[in-house]
Amino acid sequence: MDGQRRILEDHAIAIRQGRIVEIEKASALQKKYSTAEVIDASGCIVMPGIVCSHSHLYGMLLRGASLKITPPSDFTQILQRVWWPVDEAMTLEDAYASALVASADFAKSGVTTFADTYSGPNSISGVLDNIARAVNEIGIRGLIAIEATERHSKEEGSKGVQENVRFAEKIKAISESKVKPIFSIHASFTVSDDLIRLVRTLASKYQAPITIHTSEGMGDLHHNLENYGKRTVERLHDIGLLGPNVVLAHCVNLDESEIGLIAKTKTGVAHNPMSNMLNAVGVAPVLEMLARGINVGLGNDGYIFDMFENMRAAYLLHRVRYKNPNAIDAQVILEMATINGARLYGMEKEIGSIEPGKRADIIIIKPNLLPTPLNASSVVGHLINTVDGDDVDTVLVDGEPIVRNKKPLTFDEAKVQSTSQAAAAQLWSRLGSTQPQIDSVKK
Ligand SMILES: [Zn+2]
Repeated sequence: MDGQRRILEDHAIAIRQGRIVEIEKASALQKKYSTAEVIDASGCIVMPGIVCSHSHLYGMLLRGASLKITPPSDFTQILQRVWWPVDEAMTLEDAYASALVASADFAKSGVTTFADTYSGPNSISGVLDNIARAVNEIGIRGLIAIEATERHSKEEGSKGVQENVRFAEKIKAISESKVKPIFSIHASFTVSDDLIRLVRTLASKYQAPITIHTSEGMGDLHHNLENYGKRTVERLHDIGLLGPNVVLAHCVNLDESEIGLIAKTKTGVAHNPMSNMLNAVGVAPVLEMLARGINVGLGNDGYIFDMFENMRAAYLLHRVRYKNPNAIDAQVILEMATINGARLYGMEKEIGSIEPGKRADIIIIKPNLLPTPLNASSVVGHLINTVDGDDVDTVLVDGEPIVRNKKPLTFDEAKVQSTSQAAAAQLWSRLGSTQPQIDSVKK
């Protein structure tokens, strides 16, 4: 994943002080850096750490949960009956526990950077400190925010914004932080124009990206048509929100003119194919967006944390939608999961590819069972069709190993699991359910 998308065999990567300094034939670099520590990656795939462009770490606590609710029949009901009650039940401790287990899962499966939005009206103040503490314990990069929403009241919206401002101020004082602030707005149908303008102003002040759920279900579109006489992206554009540092999550229900506005303003999009399938909201027009030059990254939306599964889902979903076996190229999927994700958050000069000068966020993949030869011509096909997160052998962030030989170095898996399970059990109990009945759903 360099500028020319070269696939190099028998090469080595020299790393110094957390950055990639040279990529050359292995034999040449071994002579040049004869005293360096060597990680042997022979027979393996070496690629940039994966960037998950849209996530909700706290979604982890709902895995396998059953909620005693009337089954939702559309996406708005999924939010109202599942997610919003969960949000209300979340505590500051739950935020920490979920961020810990989710970051551990990301790290083990090769994700070195993610963008997260937390939601919890009863656990706003200080929550980003708890999430940051968990992410720092694991050692990967996190772009974190609590969503601003006026779902219950204007005051709730202000408190969410204030927590993001507080955290942005705190991080400003730290020279090197792997956890960075972003601003998040829940969705256009739970906020006023004023709140969107306020977040736009503050994000510019702190030079931080903004993310907002956009046209995920049809409720978003109907709300804006009924209340503003505009389609969702049209309203966001007219308020002045759109721009190169804004990431619209989902963008499922767009028309041609909205795609045109996103392209014109160089706004980014995070595509979440598995969540979209789970929530039955439809298929985002990713091919049309890519054709218009829109930068599209790949997210999990808090659902399946193995990004190789998400890559495979994106690869398959657009083939089905267009009934075209050539709908989307495997290389494009890899770009969405790496360099495009980095570009969405203004980090493309630092991460997202393996090139001299960039930070050494690198993963080494050693498939447990490789049925066919691995070489320059087969590697992309293997990454999309063969590899799972469990095949990730080594993970480096800033050149520092987080995982080696499939074993975590920065955290105790048993401890992470017990912390998460204890928090989940209590959360489920507060939600009034312990028996698995329906699949967990993410927003
Ligand atoms: Zn989401």
